[in-house]
Amino acid sequence: MSKQLDHHQPIIRRGRFAPTPSGLLHIGNAFAALVAWLQIRQAGGEFLLRIEDIDKPRSRPAFAEQQQDDLLWLGLDWDEGPRLGGPFAPYEQSLRDELYEEALAWLNAAGRLYPCYCSRAELASIASAPHGLSLEGPAYPGFCRHLTLEERTAKETLKEPALRFVMPSEPIAFVDGFAGARSYDGDALGDFVVKRADGMFGYQLAVVVDDAAMGITDVVRGADLLDSTPRQLALYDALGLKPPAFAHVPLLGDAGGERFSKRDKSLTLAALRGEGVMAERLVGLLGHIAGWLDKPEPVRASELVSLFTPIRTSEQPLPIHDNMLQWLRS
Ligand code: GLU
Repeated sequence: MSKQLDHHQPIIRRGRFAPTPSGLLHIGNAFAALVAWLQIRQAGGEFLLRIEDIDKPRSRPAFAEQQQDDLLWLGLDWDEGPRLGGPFAPYEQSLRDELYEEALAWLNAAGRLYPCYCSRAELASIASAPHGLSLEGPAYPGFCRHLTLEERTAKETLKEPALRFVMPSEPIAFVDGFAGARSYDGDALGDFVVKRADGMFGYQLAVVVDDAAMGITDVVRGADLLDSTPRQLALYDALGLKPPAFAHVPLLGDAGGERFSKRDKSLTLAALRGEGVMAERLVGLLGHIAGWLDKPEPVRASELVSLFTPIRTSEQPLPIHDNMLQWLRS
């Protein structure tokens, strides 16, 4: 039967895990990866791994290799990605510049980009003003958005510009699979950088272009990226692309509620493995934290596939108590 005539062709759900190889995976990353993997495996979909090494100086091939070993140790496999290849290769962002340039050309033609000449120092001085903006630029006030042609030409000779995306001013609302209904004011989020003056593409641009190009239907990732989602939805809209469904997994933290980061070396998967911790114990602990197991017990990831149910996102990181860590290491 031809594809066009087959109205009953099922939609295969496609999910992904997309680590940045600038450090090792910690148990919070493992939790997000496990949830993303289980959701897709339960749906009979396809799971892919993408290495987000867009920040070339901060990325290390050795970390990417270790991250892959760690995922396989946990029992999380992928159908497409590094080591395996697949129809949407390459699965490393550092090799996908052409696609990002194409998206920028499209946005430019649609009038959604402008060059920004603000220096780090200028942005920092606004940041230190009361109610100013942070260096990450959550609310760039749009200084360079309205430069006249003459002003632009004068600045061009002084400095290579970054490219900023024009955010819509209307509210951006969506329903997150775990966090529920969310609404953001596009203006308050501010125009963000899609290509830096040094030529590096912005995370938001690359992730949207890749998720769309790779046919991702379900983005399940850490709750630290919840507030990036409205920016990404604005990009999908401007590029005329259909966005995936989003679901954000709660972050994990220590008993005091401080979230784990790449800097916490003791709870990286590599360190736990090195101590001799069993993968089944870590998976069982995460399954218990998610609420799929009444108590922590050793299980394989594949044994959780039938037990998976959507989880609730909390604003606060979920605490890992000392007794949980003792059980993990026992
Ligand atoms: N590469 C991002 C990170 O490691 C995740 C991107 C995403 O899942 O959208 O934080």
